[in-house]
Amino acid sequence: MAGVEDRVAPQTTNGAPASADDIVVTNPATGREIARVPDLTAEQVAELARKARAAQPGWQALGFDGRARIMLRAQKWVLDNRERVIQTIVSETGKTYEDAQLAEISYAAAGFGFWAKNAEEYLADEKIKASTPLVAGRKLYRRFAPLGLVGVIGPWNYPLTNSFGDCIPALMAGNAVILKPSEETPLTSMLMAEAMRECGLPADVFQIATGRGATGSALVDEADMIMFTGSTATGKKVMAKAAETLTPVSLELGGKDPMIILSDADVERAANAALYYSMQNSGQTCISTERVYVEAPVYDEFVAKITEKARTLRQGDPSGGPGSVEVGAITFPKQMEIIEDHVKDAVDKGAKIVVGGHRRAGDGTFFEPTIMVDVDHSMKAMTEETFGPTLPIMKVSDAEEAIRLANDSPYGLAASVFGKDMKRAEQVARRLEAGAVVVNDAMLNYSVMELPMGGWKASGLGSRHGAGGIRKYTAEQAIMLTRFAPKKDLHMFPYKAGRTKLLGKFFGLLYGRGKRD
Ligand code: NAD
Repeated sequence: MAGVEDRVAPQTTNGAPASADDIVVTNPATGREIARVPDLTAEQVAELARKARAAQPGWQALGFDGRARIMLRAQKWVLDNRERVIQTIVSETGKTYEDAQLAEISYAAAGFGFWAKNAEEYLADEKIKASTPLVAGRKLYRRFAPLGLVGVIGPWNYPLTNSFGDCIPALMAGNAVILKPSEETPLTSMLMAEAMRECGLPADVFQIATGRGATGSALVDEADMIMFTGSTATGKKVMAKAAETLTPVSLELGGKDPMIILSDADVERAANAALYYSMQNSGQTCISTERVYVEAPVYDEFVAKITEKARTLRQGDPSGGPGSVEVGAITFPKQMEIIEDHVKDAVDKGAKIVVGGHRRAGDGTFFEPTIMVDVDHSMKAMTEETFGPTLPIMKVSDAEEAIRLANDSPYGLAASVFGKDMKRAEQVARRLEAGAVVVNDAMLNYSVMELPMGGWKASGLGSRHGAGGIRKYTAEQAIMLTRFAPKKDLHMFPYKAGRTKLLGKFFGLLYGRGKRD
């Protein structure tokens, strides 16, 4: 994949002149600078918002069909330009070609098609049948009106899926969108803004606000709704800031996803899945498997299998393209400190490292694929989000202990259970405190756009995908139409004792009958 860095050669963007405060974007696999982008001020964000608000009514007026046409063009654009998009993602994240293709390109391509096809149905007026006779004869329905300007704030781990991906339903709902990508990975978002323009999106309907945290905070002040994906700590700040203006927020936050291996599991599949879902994207996925609990009878077999497999993983600069490495770089240099801290803390408290365990020497930021055993909940590696290619495995006496430990977490994003007895596995799944639980798989639920994906507990508020994943970008409105009505209804002024008593009897007849304890 030669030429990655030529194609995203150093640039300043948004037409702004280069300044000393510019954000330097580096390739984490090489440590080399690849671009500079401006750090927008609050005034600049307000100016983008002004332009977005001016453009939004025209975009809304295009209707679902008009908007869908542009999304379908964009779907084709992503597929036609996938090498360019993958190279941009790989160069700013250090992830492998395969991780960029499976979890980013395929997600965006599916997302454009899904929302183009389903937005109208999810947001169609919904006729309501009233149970109260007070409104007999009236026409009632609820509708979903676009909010106006949606602010999307994204993390660095999936620049296409988790930053741009959420803009698709927000746009399809008829909103203008300003996307504030992570300062670590702004280039993919900027490429997508270029793509959307090429596909005919009217000017200013979709804009990128590059910048650091303060730029995100300024966006919270400007937008009518904030879709935030990132850490729980920042999510709390965003929610507090949004409370000042009563701006609605949807928060997709951190996780510490458990995997439970029951004694009747297909251990070979469980080991392959645990390895893949903990190490893909270098473990930098919100729904990565971060800890495993194995029932005692299959513990030794599971550890032996995953250890052997983990030793075969190739890690390094992914610029060699498809098939060159399984595990890429750590995208965010500060994440390396957290990973090292969690591994050291575990070892200090008695954990044993069976594979890996160290930062790799040389250029770029790499942490070895790492498997740990003899772990417990006194260790950060079992209770705090590590977000790296590390997997602690704990032996449990039975499923009850596994469930208790899996739920012993402030997080509740996703979880997985492996077992051949589907009834038992499903019963375990239903007792886990997580927004999504998957049996004999992990993570794949994310690709099902009909299924809601959102966190419980400290993992978030609201969800993406499904009806809720687009209705959150709208204001729900109840409409009641009265066409035929008397000059005056019975309950109107002036109050008269006789009529009041009559109404009382009527309510008694209406609600006072019927069987009950
Ligand atoms: P982060 O919270 O550090 O940053 C996220 C975004 O918020 C960045 O764009 C950042 O510039 C911005 N930001 C920082 N301070 C802000 C402020 N005060 N106001 C507004 N915006 C502000 O997160 P990160 O390190 O970029 O991403 C990793 C985290 O994201 C992990 O915890 C991961 O689990 C989580 N994540 C969750 C999901 C999900 O769907 N639940 C998906 C991907 C990532």
